[in-house]
Amino acid sequence: MPSRGLHYPGSYAELRAWFPDDEACIDYLDWLRWPTGPVCPRCGRSASAVTTAGRVWRCGGCKKRVSRTAGTIFHDTRVPLTVWFAAAWFVTSQKDGASALGLQRVLGLGSYQTAWTMLHRYRTAMVRPGRELLGGRVEVDETFFGGEEPGVPGRGALGKTLVAIAVELHEPRGYGRARMSIIPNAEAQSLRSFLLSTVEPTSTVVTDGWGAYPRACADSFVHEPHPISGSGHKAHELLSAVHRVASLSKRWLLSTHQGGVGADHLQAYLNEFCFRFNRRRSRARGLLFYRLLQYAAGAVPVTYRQLVAHPRPKAVMPPGLKGPRSRPASLAQPPEDRPWRAARSLE
Ligand SMILES: [Zn+2]
Repeated sequence: MPSRGLHYPGSYAELRAWFPDDEACIDYLDWLRWPTGPVCPRCGRSASAVTTAGRVWRCGGCKKRVSRTAGTIFHDTRVPLTVWFAAAWFVTSQKDGASALGLQRVLGLGSYQTAWTMLHRYRTAMVRPGRELLGGRVEVDETFFGGEEPGVPGRGALGKTLVAIAVELHEPRGYGRARMSIIPNAEAQSLRSFLLSTVEPTSTVVTDGWGAYPRACADSFVHEPHPISGSGHKAHELLSAVHRVASLSKRWLLSTHQGGVGADHLQAYLNEFCFRFNRRRSRARGLLFYRLLQYAAGAVPVTYRQLVAHPRPKAVMPPGLKGPRSRPASLAQPPEDRPWRAARSLE
């Protein structure tokens, strides 16, 4: 684990000092990807054979030109990297992250859609392809997101998005990591594919008494059902971990994002929620910044098989947001000489 103050900034002031211009930002991305110096993807020559010029590496061996942002979420972006880095700071340092409107305001961005697109690109980086499966005892349940429909409770409700939730249970109490995934329905086949992609085989899967779970767990997991009927307990008492995660995430969507999250993009928001939830005990917020930038830079090695099994979702903007775009101003600005002195008087 990186030590504080060496791998990531500890405050916004430090962030601005570390990354005063785009060159400093891109050097950080280089360092995340190639801690011991860049390697040419064609001939495999190491650092000494490579020279840098702006955003392109040139291999001293085979002369190949390699974009320093290729393979990162920052490739082909019109937004200066100083702005990207500040956005990553706000997303990771605030307890509830940042909304597109909040980011637009705090960074002085000309357009809402620029802020929305940046946040969404970061969300695609919040799930590391090929990440570890949950293990031990894992609580699993499904819940609907998207509006209450009185009188149509539970699994038969229409017009909502069904989300499967899995949370590791710690002994004697407490929770570990969580995963959330949209599933098409609560049938055994859907629940089984969620389990296989989320939970380590032979783990214990703790569920309610829903009839699809025995088949969903068959031969792969130890099933521990806790039927609610006749238990004398309420659902949220029997499966407290998944209910806690469900209510926290719903509250976050309602408060930070005003509930304005369509079904098309819900998975991306769930990914962001889990990214933050799973790091809730991080001793420094800067560590989340470091992780997000690491994933965004594609610094975590991923095999082709993992990429195919977990393709990164592409950010497709809702039609209502499309429109002309401008290049946001860089945060790299020369210091001004007390501009307020030029003002005539206080208004
Ligand atoms: Zn080369």
